[in-house]
Amino acid sequence: MSAGHIIPGHRPSGPLPPNRPPAGLSAAGVPGAGPPDPLSDVLVDPQGRRLDYLRLAVTDRCNLRCRYCMPAAGVALGERDEVLSIDEMIRLGALFAGLGVRSFRITGGEPLVRRGLTTLISALGALPSAPEVLLTTNGLLLADNLDALAEAGLRRVNLSLDSLEEGTWTAITRREGFERVRAAIDLVLARGLGLKINMVVLPGWNDHELDDFVELTRERALTVRFIEPMPFLGEGRLCGPGIAGPEILARLAVAPIIEAEPIRAGAVEKLFRVPGFAGKVGIIEGHSRTFCGTCRRLRVDARGRMRTCLYGKPSAFLRPLIRSGADDASLIEAIRRAVAGRLPDGVAAEADHRRHNLESMVNIGG
Ligand code: SAM
Ligand code: SF4
Repeated sequence: MSAGHIIPGHRPSGPLPPNRPPAGLSAAGVPGAGPPDPLSDVLVDPQGRRLDYLRLAVTDRCNLRCRYCMPAAGVALGERDEVLSIDEMIRLGALFAGLGVRSFRITGGEPLVRRGLTTLISALGALPSAPEVLLTTNGLLLADNLDALAEAGLRRVNLSLDSLEEGTWTAITRREGFERVRAAIDLVLARGLGLKINMVVLPGWNDHELDDFVELTRERALTVRFIEPMPFLGEGRLCGPGIAGPEILARLAVAPIIEAEPIRAGAVEKLFRVPGFAGKVGIIEGHSRTFCGTCRRLRVDARGRMRTCLYGKPSAFLRPLIRSGADDASLIEAIRRAVAGRLPDGVAAEADHRRHNLESMVNIGG
């Protein structure tokens, strides 16, 4: 493959897609947006996008040191009491669910190192609106926790796995444990849980394995998602040369026969299917940011900082409010104020953030 397919530190070149509200949704809560809307309790940003998906980071600790996510020296960890307690997370989860959040993705750091995780998952799933609760994990501790997670109500798992070769995986993660993570694929499927595998494509490290990952979808009903590396190493820069989604796709041996699926509103992935294969292949253009126009995600990190964009600075700090005895109405007001200031896309959010470094994903939660 020619070097022309690698774009060092590439930036989005063309115009971003227009920001439109999801079909059938009016811009409730937006000044001057027309008659009151029955969905007025839900969170809708100034572009009319309904925000119903929350990524909740439950820890900023991790048992791996992926080189695209963390500097070799690791990241500064706060005192333990700087991290939200499980009860505080449940309280926030209930507030967000009351504001229309329908999906919680539990992330981190590595969520499975956090004590009380199954309590959190079952409490969120048991909220009156019955939101779905999802997990993103590096898989190292998955086998030991799978039964408890399934019993707590978990139905789908995203597994981060950047190589199917032990040596490459160890070089990328800077830790041991490859076999355990590799084995987690079939354990999750055997347990009847939905599975997506996330692979960050790192030119020169693992990009020779793209077809091997597609091969996983031949017999298995899972989705493999190739992710553009993003500048969240803790220093706001890429960990190496970037690669854009279309180039990733073009490199696949199956590229000529791959079929695109319709893009779901709010999805971050473009999905494809190889005819005759059981699973799917996806591309996440996290650096090109082609999906911002319909993005419906919010984030709360383990320290209680809320972000309305992965690339943006924290827009509300909920932990001090909770710990100073704020009532639900005050917390909701802080959440609404953050949503009201949401910028149109990740390029604008990054520009607004320019004087600060983009933090490591281990802090933000991906
Ligand atoms: N530790 C868990 C894991 O690895 O699945 C959850 C947290 S991790 C920050 C969430 C996701 O972010 C993972 O799929 C990881 O590969 C991805 N990620 C981390 N840093 C990234 C970067 N700089 N660019 C693209 N994806 C990144
Ligand atoms: Fe840890 Fe996940 Fe970051 Fe890897 S990507 S260092 S597993 S938080």
